Amino acid sequence: MSLIPKSHPRAKSLLIREKLVSGFDRGLVAKEGLLAQGRGEAFDYLQGEKTGKSAKSAIKAAAAQIILADLPVISVNGNIAALCPKEIVKLAKKTGSKIEVNLFYTNEKRKRAIINTLKKYGAKEILGTDFRSKTILSGIDSARRFVDKNGIFSADVVVVPLEDGDRTMALRKAGKKVITFDLNPLSRTSQTAHITIVDNVTRAMDLLIENCEKLSRKNTNYLQKIVCDFDNKKNLSQNIEEIKNNLTKRAKNA
Ligand code: ATP
Ligand code: MG
Repeated sequence: MSLIPKSHPRAKSLLIREKLVSGFDRGLVAKEGLLAQGRGEAFDYLQGEKTGKSAKSAIKAAAAQIILADLPVISVNGNIAALCPKEIVKLAKKTGSKIEVNLFYTNEKRKRAIINTLKKYGAKEILGTDFRSKTILSGIDSARRFVDKNGIFSADVVVVPLEDGDRTMALRKAGKKVITFDLNPLSRTSQTAHITIVDNVTRAMDLLIENCEKLSRKNTNYLQKIVCDFDNKKNLSQNIEEIKNNLTKRAKNA
């Protein structure tokens, strides 16, 4: 039971924090994940704690890219498992994507906890656990270089929410189309991915599912045009403009 009153002006953001802390207590989130959440909160503040126009166009492009993919894979870490496990399973089911657990700070117990959480929400197959299909994605030092031969290694599109810059670069170099969620438009991840959704993953994931549902009825040409017309650099610049506008508004009201 949450102790945050619904009338609190920042109730939604505090609930997200509560989810993450509960994920930490349940062994899903690493200590470092709490720090990533803190950085996310600071950027969410700058984003006005809402989904901006730039995020909405990135979500649409991401949905089109996922539907066009032959083998889309969603990479899950502890923070994602704590924040939106239900939505991850739903997105995977709706789009025929595979789910792979891939941790920066690897730890078998934590991996188990993440898998159990995803299973609780109906995930059937979860990759990243079978040592027989484990292989290496070159260009990464951390444990995240271990990927599943039938998952991330073979994927053409990888959805990597809350990713780190090195791995985004390695995935890109391996020829994958990379879709990320990152509240900081200036992070290396944001700047390196093909499609960056600059929004809180807890708000954007449902919108991505909705967009996938809507766009799944469209033909290939229509979807390809959405992807081709999307320019990530331009979209990130638009997001920075949105931050400036949010700050100007706040300063006026202060
Ligand atoms: P990079 O390596 O890409 O330069 P970084 O080192 O600044 O990034 P990491 O710790 O690698 O950051 O990744 C955490 C990122 O996730 C941060 O940019 C943070 O803003 C973002 N983030 C944290 N929580 C959320 C959330 N709920 N939704 C979206 N993004 C988030
Ligand atoms: Mg980093």
